[in-house]
Amino acid sequence: MDQIAYVNGSFVPLSEAKVSILDRGFLFADGIYEVSAVLDGKLIDNASHLARLERSVGEISLALPETIQRIQEIQKELIARNKLVNGMVYLEVTRGADKGRDFAFPKGVKPTLVMFTSEKDIVNAASAKTGIGVITVPDIRWARRDIKSVALLAQVLAKQAAAEAGAGEAWMIEDGLVTEGGSSSAFILTQDDVIVTRPNSNSILPGCTRKAVKMLAEERQLKVEERPFSIAEALAAKEAFITSASVFVQAVVSIDGKKVGSGTPGPMANRLREIYVDFARSTSV
Ligand code: PLP
Repeated sequence: MDQIAYVNGSFVPLSEAKVSILDRGFLFADGIYEVSAVLDGKLIDNASHLARLERSVGEISLALPETIQRIQEIQKELIARNKLVNGMVYLEVTRGADKGRDFAFPKGVKPTLVMFTSEKDIVNAASAKTGIGVITVPDIRWARRDIKSVALLAQVLAKQAAAEAGAGEAWMIEDGLVTEGGSSSAFILTQDDVIVTRPNSNSILPGCTRKAVKMLAEERQLKVEERPFSIAEALAAKEAFITSASVFVQAVVSIDGKKVGSGTPGPMANRLREIYVDFARSTSV
């Protein structure tokens, strides 16, 4: 059966879901997106994702075409219509389609809102057991990475390089320090058991999973330090891991082919993963 997508007020088969070639998302990457995980048919940490959506659209002066409450209703209806059990809901809002291609904001144009779902068994993903390797690439992105913009070409190239190297993610490097993964937040566990992750700023996307994992770790009296770290420090660390809505907590077992720690998922990554899954289940909507 064809999947169902949402396009500007209508639920339509994915193969028929279309927007104009004049859509500013297509022409200028003038749009924002969000990805929320789905476990057992329910949205995970969605309030956090919708809060970030509101912030991102605010930063580019784009008005949402629906209320946040209505957006969540649409997400839920899409999950129901697709009978989605485990996976993700992708949501994108753009500044809409004008009559031509003028850079400045168009007047009287309604933003485009689209959503679709994809299946993924995040909890039982094979890579959760094996861990992933990451490669390093220069961070060539723009200066407002805190905005979840659909302008993802730098990440496309980074993640393609990772795929070609047989790695699961690319860690982007700026001034000798890790900013974040192509589509994830980066963490290490130091030899003295401090969880280290870069603080939020314009240099990284404020990850929703990062925020939850930090809170959950601190609640358990685990030490968390927000500061940038280098690849040399990551290679000398006990463990490394990434977080995102589409992997939750995922151990990193090598960087550029060099082992991190034992070269297998460590106890902290495994523990935080379990804690996060429990949190996800208990707070899903
Ligand atoms: N950093 C970047 C660049 C991302 O693209 C993502 C997710 O797509 C993340 C971090 C993780 O964010 P979240 O935990 O909200 O999925």
